[in-house]
Amino acid sequence: MKIGFGYTRTCNFRCEFCYSKNVSGNWDKQDAVKVIADAVEHHGSVEVNWGTGENVLAPGFVEVLREVHAMGVPQDLTTNGSVVLREEALKYLDELDVSIDYPDPDSHNRARGHPKAFEWATRAVKYAARELGIQATVTMVGMRGNLSYETGRRMVELARSLDAAALRLNLYFFTRPDRFVPTPAQVGDFLKGLRDAGAGLYGTSDPAVAKLLGVEPEGYLGSVRLLPEKRISPSTYLTSDEWAVPIQLPDFYRNFVQTHVYRRFEEVYKRTFPRQSADRVAVLGYDPYYVDGEVEAVPLRRASGRSFIHLGYLPTTIFSV
Ligand code: SF4
Repeated sequence: MKIGFGYTRTCNFRCEFCYSKNVSGNWDKQDAVKVIADAVEHHGSVEVNWGTGENVLAPGFVEVLREVHAMGVPQDLTTNGSVVLREEALKYLDELDVSIDYPDPDSHNRARGHPKAFEWATRAVKYAARELGIQATVTMVGMRGNLSYETGRRMVELARSLDAAALRLNLYFFTRPDRFVPTPAQVGDFLKGLRDAGAGLYGTSDPAVAKLLGVEPEGYLGSVRLLPEKRISPSTYLTSDEWAVPIQLPDFYRNFVQTHVYRRFEEVYKRTFPRQSADRVAVLGYDPYYVDGEVEAVPLRRASGRSFIHLGYLPTTIFSV
């Protein structure tokens, strides 16, 4: 069971495209530990990836990491890289995903709204990978502004230069269709850039990316997202009331599997992705998550030899570099 855990919405950046804008709140550490302990007791195999806000800024978060680490649960943290090196947090993490959206400092700093964003992020990847031996990835949000052939090539080169284990792509996902949503052609060009730079594919759970790669999406049914305001959803991106429902404590796991919530998750792909969305077409003129048969697939060689906590988590694609 892959638990994506949004411990807090707190963040020291104000990225325009932030997909956590419409969530709020913080967990308290006792409840967070209880939920994970309950999942471990009833499910056995649990992996946690922490994200949503900049979690190390939230009170009690590092203590939660320590307690979850003591349970033997593998943990991964997605971070903007700004403060994580100051924290004890790195001692308890198995993987670190650092957000870098552009291969050059100016574009990344502009997108993230901070003049040191690129410097901090690249330093975090290098330090985790070289000094601590933590498996670190360069993690990018794929948007209309940054997906191109050239960016594909250069992101692979950047990840290699930092000794990152992989490049992770989260395709920008509509909460409402808007100016950040990429076109399928852009995603295809980006994949060609990756291919020509020698990248391979560890796997994808994103149906649009899978279609463009000519593969089947994998994983995803065992992944859930706990949001800071104590709701549960199938994905970071599905935060509307239609998808995210309140978490019941205690007995999180029993309540989760015994209610209709669990079955709703299995319907995500049927209900959301394979159908063309009239809303998306009306606003954008196309539906980036409905890729029809005319799009040219860009196959990548299969990569192997590493496992990733985020692999199979909806929606993630991981490339070797
Ligand atoms: S760093 Fe992440 S959580 Fe913070 S504002 Fe940017 S996208 Fe949102």
